[in-house]
Amino acid sequence: MININSPVEQLHFELFEQKKIQVFLKRDDLIHPFISGNKWRKLKYTLQDAVQKNKTHLVSFGGAYSNHLNALACAAATFGFKATAFVRGEEISNQMLALNKLWGMELIFVDRTAYKNKLELFEKHFSNDEKAYFIDEGGAGPFGAKGCEEIVTELTETYDKIFCAVGTATTLQGIAQAIKNNGLQTKAEGICVLKGAEEIDAHLKENGLVDYYKIHHQFHEGGYAKSNPELFDFIKLFASKTGILLDQVYTAKMMKAVFTLAHQDYFEPNSKILCVHTGGLLGLLGVLK
Ligand SMILES: *Cc1c(COP(=O)(O)O)cnc(C)c1O
Repeated sequence: MININSPVEQLHFELFEQKKIQVFLKRDDLIHPFISGNKWRKLKYTLQDAVQKNKTHLVSFGGAYSNHLNALACAAATFGFKATAFVRGEEISNQMLALNKLWGMELIFVDRTAYKNKLELFEKHFSNDEKAYFIDEGGAGPFGAKGCEEIVTELTETYDKIFCAVGTATTLQGIAQAIKNNGLQTKAEGICVLKGAEEIDAHLKENGLVDYYKIHHQFHEGGYAKSNPELFDFIKLFASKTGILLDQVYTAKMMKAVFTLAHQDYFEPNSKILCVHTGGLLGLLGVLK
Protein backbone atom coordinates (compact mmCIF):
# COMPACT_ATOMS: atom_id res chain seq x y z
CA MET A 1 0.00 0.00 0.00
CA ILE A 2 1.03 3.57 -0.59
CA ASN A 3 2.16 5.45 2.50
CA ILE A 4 -0.38 8.19 2.80
CA ASN A 5 0.85 10.29 5.73
CA SER A 6 1.93 13.41 3.87
CA PRO A 7 4.16 16.08 5.42
CA VAL A 8 3.07 19.56 6.56
CA GLU A 9 5.35 22.51 5.73
CA GLN A 10 5.09 26.13 6.80
CA LEU A 11 4.92 28.72 4.01
CA HIS A 12 7.05 31.79 4.59
CA PHE A 13 5.78 34.90 2.84
CA GLU A 14 6.05 38.52 3.96
CA LEU A 15 2.29 38.93 3.62
CA PHE A 16 1.64 36.25 6.22
CA GLU A 17 4.14 37.83 8.61
CA GLN A 18 2.55 41.27 8.17
CA LYS A 19 -0.87 39.86 8.93
CA LYS A 20 0.53 37.83 11.86
CA ILE A 21 -0.82 34.56 10.56
CA GLN A 22 0.84 31.19 10.11
CA VAL A 23 0.09 29.32 6.91
CA PHE A 24 0.98 25.68 6.34
CA LEU A 25 0.69 23.37 3.36
CA LYS A 26 -0.14 19.67 3.63
CA ARG A 27 1.76 18.08 0.79
CA ASP A 28 -0.65 15.48 -0.54
CA ASP A 29 1.05 16.08 -3.88
CA LEU A 30 3.94 14.04 -2.44
CA ILE A 31 1.84 10.92 -1.79
CA HIS A 32 2.74 9.48 -5.21
CA PRO A 33 3.87 11.04 -8.51
CA PHE A 34 0.74 9.86 -10.38
CA ILE A 35 -1.71 8.42 -7.82
CA SER A 36 -1.57 11.85 -6.41
CA GLY A 37 -3.24 13.99 -3.81
CA ASN A 38 -6.88 13.66 -2.96
CA LYS A 39 -7.37 11.22 -5.84
CA TRP A 40 -5.49 8.51 -3.95
CA ARG A 41 -7.34 9.34 -0.74
CA LYS A 42 -10.63 8.95 -2.58
CA LEU A 43 -9.56 5.66 -4.18
CA LYS A 44 -8.16 4.00 -1.09
CA TYR A 45 -11.41 2.71 0.46
CA THR A 46 -13.09 2.46 -2.93
CA LEU A 47 -10.48 -0.09 -4.06
CA GLN A 48 -10.75 -1.95 -0.76
CA ASP A 49 -14.49 -2.22 -1.35
CA ALA A 50 -13.89 -3.51 -4.88
CA VAL A 51 -11.53 -6.20 -3.54
CA GLN A 52 -14.02 -7.19 -0.85
CA LYS A 53 -16.74 -7.58 -3.47
CA ASN A 54 -14.40 -9.64 -5.63
CA LYS A 55 -14.41 -7.08 -8.44
CA THR A 56 -11.33 -6.88 -10.63
CA HIS A 57 -12.41 -4.44 -13.33
CA LEU A 58 -12.61 -0.76 -12.38
CA VAL A 59 -14.88 1.40 -14.54
CA SER A 60 -14.94 5.15 -14.17
CA PHE A 61 -15.59 8.48 -15.86
CA GLY A 62 -13.86 11.77 -16.58
CA GLY A 63 -12.87 14.52 -18.96
CA ALA A 64 -9.88 14.32 -21.27
CA TYR A 65 -7.70 16.06 -18.63
CA SER A 66 -9.00 14.16 -15.63
CA ASN A 67 -6.58 13.80 -12.70
CA HIS A 68 -8.89 11.12 -11.36
CA LEU A 69 -8.49 8.95 -14.47
CA ASN A 70 -4.69 9.29 -14.28
CA ALA A 71 -4.69 8.23 -10.64
CA LEU A 72 -7.11 5.38 -11.36
CA ALA A 73 -5.15 4.10 -14.37
CA CYS A 74 -1.89 4.04 -12.44
CA ALA A 75 -3.51 2.56 -9.30
CA ALA A 76 -5.21 -0.15 -11.38
CA ALA A 77 -1.87 -1.12 -12.92
CA THR A 78 -0.13 -0.99 -9.53
CA PHE A 79 -2.66 -3.15 -7.71
CA GLY A 80 -3.56 -5.54 -10.54
CA PHE A 81 -6.97 -4.36 -11.68
CA LYS A 82 -8.25 -4.00 -15.21
CA ALA A 83 -9.50 -0.45 -15.89
CA THR A 84 -11.90 1.16 -18.35
CA ALA A 85 -12.79 4.85 -18.56
CA PHE A 86 -15.64 6.64 -20.26
CA VAL A 87 -14.11 9.87 -21.50
CA ARG A 88 -16.40 12.84 -22.10
CA GLY A 89 -16.43 14.35 -25.59
CA GLU A 90 -15.01 13.59 -29.00
CA GLU A 91 -12.05 11.27 -29.35
CA ILE A 92 -8.83 13.24 -28.91
CA SER A 93 -5.33 12.44 -27.78
CA ASN A 94 -3.25 14.29 -25.24
CA GLN A 95 -0.45 13.45 -22.84
CA MET A 96 -2.73 12.61 -19.93
CA LEU A 97 -4.84 10.19 -21.98
CA ALA A 98 -1.67 8.72 -23.51
CA LEU A 99 -0.39 7.97 -20.02
CA ASN A 100 -3.67 6.27 -19.16
CA LYS A 101 -3.24 3.99 -22.16
CA LEU A 102 0.35 3.27 -21.16
CA TRP A 103 -0.98 1.98 -17.85
CA GLY A 104 -3.32 -0.29 -19.78
CA MET A 105 -6.55 1.60 -19.26
CA GLU A 106 -9.14 1.19 -21.99
CA LEU A 107 -10.76 4.44 -23.13
CA ILE A 108 -14.30 4.77 -24.47
CA PHE A 109 -15.15 8.24 -25.78
CA VAL A 110 -18.80 9.23 -25.37
CA ASP A 111 -20.65 12.39 -26.37
CA ARG A 112 -21.76 14.82 -23.71
CA THR A 113 -25.40 13.73 -23.75
CA ALA A 114 -24.64 10.04 -23.25
CA TYR A 115 -22.01 10.95 -20.62
CA LYS A 116 -24.67 12.56 -18.41
CA ASN A 117 -26.17 9.20 -17.43
CA LYS A 118 -23.18 7.34 -16.01
CA LEU A 119 -25.06 4.43 -14.49
CA GLU A 120 -26.81 3.84 -17.80
CA LEU A 121 -23.47 3.78 -19.63
CA PHE A 122 -22.10 1.33 -17.09
CA GLU A 123 -25.16 -0.93 -17.43
CA LYS A 124 -25.15 -0.76 -21.19
CA HIS A 125 -21.51 -1.81 -21.57
CA PHE A 126 -20.86 -3.97 -18.53
CA SER A 127 -24.08 -5.57 -17.34
CA ASN A 128 -22.59 -8.92 -18.43
CA ASP A 129 -19.27 -8.35 -16.68
CA GLU A 130 -19.75 -9.48 -13.09
CA LYS A 131 -16.23 -8.30 -12.23
CA ALA A 132 -16.98 -4.71 -13.24
CA TYR A 133 -17.05 -2.09 -10.47
CA PHE A 134 -18.57 1.39 -10.88
CA ILE A 135 -16.53 4.36 -9.63
CA ASP A 136 -18.13 7.77 -9.99
CA GLU A 137 -16.46 10.69 -11.73
CA GLY A 138 -13.66 12.20 -9.65
CA GLY A 139 -13.86 9.29 -7.19
CA ALA A 140 -16.87 10.96 -5.56
CA GLY A 141 -18.99 9.08 -3.03
CA PRO A 142 -18.98 7.86 0.57
CA PHE A 143 -15.74 5.84 0.25
CA GLY A 144 -14.09 8.87 -1.30
CA ALA A 145 -15.14 11.14 1.54
CA LYS A 146 -14.06 8.53 4.13
CA GLY A 147 -10.54 8.47 2.69
CA CYS A 148 -10.38 12.26 2.83
CA GLU A 149 -11.18 12.24 6.57
CA GLU A 150 -7.61 11.05 7.03
CA ILE A 151 -6.32 14.43 5.83
CA VAL A 152 -7.45 15.61 9.27
CA THR A 153 -6.98 12.52 11.44
CA GLU A 154 -3.29 12.18 10.55
CA LEU A 155 -2.49 15.78 11.61
CA THR A 156 -0.34 16.18 14.70
CA GLU A 157 -1.36 19.80 15.37
CA THR A 158 -4.64 21.71 15.30
CA TYR A 159 -5.50 24.59 12.96
CA ASP A 160 -8.14 27.32 12.94
CA LYS A 161 -8.97 26.73 9.31
CA ILE A 162 -8.27 24.04 6.72
CA PHE A 163 -8.51 25.14 3.08
CA CYS A 164 -8.92 22.94 0.03
CA ALA A 165 -10.00 23.34 -3.59
CA VAL A 166 -13.57 22.22 -4.33
CA GLY A 167 -14.61 20.32 -7.46
CA THR A 168 -17.24 17.80 -6.30
CA ALA A 169 -16.73 18.83 -2.64
CA THR A 170 -15.93 15.22 -1.68
CA THR A 171 -12.59 16.25 -0.18
CA LEU A 172 -14.22 19.11 1.73
CA GLN A 173 -16.87 16.68 2.99
CA GLY A 174 -14.22 14.33 4.37
CA ILE A 175 -12.41 17.18 6.10
CA ALA A 176 -15.65 18.57 7.60
CA GLN A 177 -16.73 15.08 8.71
CA ALA A 178 -13.42 14.48 10.50
CA ILE A 179 -13.66 17.89 12.20
CA LYS A 180 -17.14 16.97 13.42
CA ASN A 181 -16.20 13.44 14.49
CA ASN A 182 -13.23 14.67 16.51
CA GLY A 183 -14.91 17.72 18.06
CA LEU A 184 -12.31 20.10 16.64
CA GLN A 185 -12.71 23.90 16.66
CA THR A 186 -11.37 23.98 13.08
CA LYS A 187 -13.45 25.26 10.15
CA ALA A 188 -13.15 23.56 6.75
CA GLU A 189 -13.07 26.20 3.99
CA GLY A 190 -13.38 25.29 0.33
CA ILE A 191 -12.45 27.36 -2.70
CA CYS A 192 -14.90 26.43 -5.44
CA VAL A 193 -13.21 26.21 -8.85
CA LEU A 194 -16.53 26.01 -10.74
CA LYS A 195 -18.67 28.99 -11.66
CA GLY A 196 -22.31 29.03 -10.61
CA ALA A 197 -21.96 25.91 -8.45
CA GLU A 198 -23.79 27.21 -5.39
CA GLU A 199 -25.51 23.83 -4.92
CA ILE A 200 -22.25 21.86 -4.89
CA ASP A 201 -22.55 21.30 -1.12
CA ALA A 202 -25.97 19.55 -1.13
CA HIS A 203 -24.36 16.29 0.05
CA LEU A 204 -22.61 18.07 2.94
CA LYS A 205 -25.93 19.51 4.08
CA GLU A 206 -27.57 16.08 3.81
CA ASN A 207 -24.84 14.68 6.03
CA GLY A 208 -25.43 17.25 8.79
CA LEU A 209 -22.17 19.14 8.25
CA VAL A 210 -23.56 22.69 7.83
CA ASP A 211 -21.79 24.05 10.91
CA TYR A 212 -18.38 22.70 10.00
CA TYR A 213 -17.55 24.24 6.62
CA LYS A 214 -17.82 27.25 4.37
CA ILE A 215 -17.41 27.49 0.59
CA HIS A 216 -16.02 30.60 -1.10
CA HIS A 217 -17.58 31.09 -4.53
CA GLN A 218 -15.71 34.21 -5.73
CA PHE A 219 -12.36 32.64 -6.64
CA HIS A 220 -13.15 30.46 -9.68
CA GLU A 221 -11.23 32.82 -12.03
CA GLY A 222 -13.87 32.52 -14.76
CA GLY A 223 -14.95 28.91 -14.26
CA TYR A 224 -13.77 25.32 -14.36
CA ALA A 225 -10.39 24.91 -16.11
CA LYS A 226 -10.44 28.61 -17.06
CA SER A 227 -7.23 30.47 -16.39
CA ASN A 228 -5.65 33.83 -17.06
CA PRO A 229 -2.17 35.43 -17.06
CA GLU A 230 -2.50 36.59 -13.43
CA LEU A 231 -3.10 33.01 -12.31
CA PHE A 232 0.06 31.89 -14.10
CA ASP A 233 1.97 34.85 -12.59
CA PHE A 234 0.85 33.55 -9.21
CA ILE A 235 1.94 29.99 -10.03
CA LYS A 236 5.34 31.38 -11.03
CA LEU A 237 5.70 33.53 -7.93
CA PHE A 238 4.76 30.63 -5.67
CA ALA A 239 7.05 28.16 -7.45
CA SER A 240 10.00 30.57 -7.41
CA LYS A 241 9.63 31.33 -3.68
CA THR A 242 8.92 27.81 -2.43
CA GLY A 243 9.95 25.26 -5.06
CA ILE A 244 6.39 23.93 -4.92
CA LEU A 245 4.32 23.58 -8.10
CA LEU A 246 0.59 24.35 -8.19
CA ASP A 247 -1.81 23.33 -10.96
CA GLN A 248 -3.93 25.94 -12.73
CA VAL A 249 -7.27 24.10 -12.34
CA TYR A 250 -7.40 23.55 -8.58
CA THR A 251 -4.49 24.22 -6.26
CA ALA A 252 -3.36 27.58 -7.69
CA LYS A 253 -6.91 28.96 -7.36
CA MET A 254 -7.08 27.71 -3.77
CA MET A 255 -3.68 29.12 -2.80
CA LYS A 256 -4.21 32.45 -4.59
CA ALA A 257 -7.54 32.80 -2.77
CA VAL A 258 -5.79 32.37 0.58
CA PHE A 259 -3.36 35.16 -0.36
CA THR A 260 -6.28 37.40 -1.41
CA LEU A 261 -8.18 36.65 1.80
CA ALA A 262 -5.05 37.49 3.83
CA HIS A 263 -4.78 40.83 1.97
CA GLN A 264 -8.43 41.48 2.85
CA ASP A 265 -7.76 40.81 6.57
CA TYR A 266 -10.11 37.84 6.51
CA PHE A 267 -7.95 35.99 9.03
CA GLU A 268 -7.74 36.90 12.72
CA PRO A 269 -4.18 37.72 13.85
CA ASN A 270 -2.45 34.61 15.27
CA SER A 271 -4.56 32.29 13.12
CA LYS A 272 -3.09 28.98 12.07
CA ILE A 273 -4.21 28.01 8.60
CA LEU A 274 -3.63 24.72 6.83
CA CYS A 275 -3.93 24.52 3.06
CA VAL A 276 -4.17 21.11 1.41
CA HIS A 277 -2.13 20.58 -1.74
CA THR A 278 -4.47 18.15 -3.45
CA GLY A 279 -1.95 17.24 -6.17
CA GLY A 280 -2.98 17.12 -9.82
CA LEU A 281 0.25 18.45 -11.27
CA LEU A 282 0.19 16.50 -14.55
CA GLY A 283 -2.39 19.00 -15.80
CA LEU A 284 0.12 21.83 -15.43
CA LEU A 285 2.76 20.16 -17.57
CA GLY A 286 0.42 19.99 -20.55
CA VAL A 287 -0.21 23.74 -20.65
CA LEU A 288 3.22 25.20 -19.82
CA LYS A 289 4.87 27.02 -22.69
C1 LIG B 1 -10.03 16.46 -8.30
C2 LIG B 1 -9.25 17.52 -7.63
C3 LIG B 1 -9.81 18.40 -6.67
C4 LIG B 1 -11.29 18.40 -6.36
O1 LIG B 1 -11.63 17.55 -5.31
P1 LIG B 1 -13.15 17.27 -4.94
O2 LIG B 1 -13.08 16.26 -3.87
O3 LIG B 1 -13.81 16.75 -6.19
O4 LIG B 1 -13.77 18.55 -4.51
C5 LIG B 1 -8.98 19.31 -6.05
N1 LIG B 1 -7.66 19.38 -6.37
C6 LIG B 1 -7.10 18.59 -7.29
C7 LIG B 1 -5.68 18.76 -7.60
C8 LIG B 1 -7.87 17.63 -7.95
O5 LIG B 1 -7.29 16.86 -8.89
